[in-house]
Amino acid sequence: MPFENIIGQTTAVRSLENMISQGHVRGSFLFLGPDGVGKRTTGIEFAKAINCEKMKEGCRCASCKKIDSGNHPDAFIIEPEGSSISIRIEKIRDIIYQASLKPYEARKRVFIINDAEDMTDEAQNALLKVLEEPPENHILILIASNISGLLPTVLSRCKVLKFYSLTQGQIQEFLQQEDIDEKDSSLFSHMAMGSIGRAMEFIDNDIIARRDEVVNNFFLRKSALLRESVLKEEGSRDTEESLYMLLCWYRDLLVSKFTKEDSVLLNIDRAIEISSYGSRFTKEKLEKDLLNIITTIDYIRRNVNPKIALFNMAVELKRG
Ligand SMILES: [Zn+2]
Repeated sequence: MPFENIIGQTTAVRSLENMISQGHVRGSFLFLGPDGVGKRTTGIEFAKAINCEKMKEGCRCASCKKIDSGNHPDAFIIEPEGSSISIRIEKIRDIIYQASLKPYEARKRVFIINDAEDMTDEAQNALLKVLEEPPENHILILIASNISGLLPTVLSRCKVLKFYSLTQGQIQEFLQQEDIDEKDSSLFSHMAMGSIGRAMEFIDNDIIARRDEVVNNFFLRKSALLRESVLKEEGSRDTEESLYMLLCWYRDLLVSKFTKEDSVLLNIDRAIEISSYGSRFTKEKLEKDLLNIITTIDYIRRNVNPKIALFNMAVELKRG
């Protein structure tokens, strides 16, 4: 059965299954929720379920196979490409053209627009008519983590299905199914803050070494060496990811002031140190530090000079 591999998201999945069983699949959808919780996968499963020939567990019918391998002529996944961070109008014109044709072989042709909030306003406006009333046998699924990038006119034309962060237990179970050992699956599932996508990134990158480095550079190192820390970090591949690690560290310091329960920490492998460091700072100072890191992440996203942003943050973090 399609959807069998979706973890959590019971409400959204049930609602899609009901539509399919009642034969009421039509129109445009918006799958809305945090990154890495299964929206895109659910979109693909939905496309499979609508077109499946057998509806059996672990189905390998021709249609399911083609959609899984990205080779179905009637299933499209649209997303920002290459270095582009937005979905431009040319892509949307493609959809409009394709939607004017009959499906080649599917019962319904499905367009999944991933990171839909990255469509330019022009692209969104161009899409309105098709969203409002997709041609017969055409389904549009917009996937977004944030509604702020979407035009109200786009929102109002979609049936919204909400997706939620997963529990630590759900993520740990998933990681164990992927053959991640007990220790790592426990740590990664705590640090993933509800996102399987993030947990998977932890597996692919050596995230623990990365975290230790950033904590070393911005938390443990003496003020006199801050410039060196900034230079090291500025040269790194993904500053935003590093700052996220640092954010988790400070979050844990703050949490440790309120509870001695290790299981609520994200960095559970360093629980003893966290509790010890946490006691050296006031709640107010840690709250200020957290805000400071969040602001810096925002600057980096908005392409503010990373050296300046990181240096200012480092100075503030060191301030008593
Ligand atoms: Zn099938």
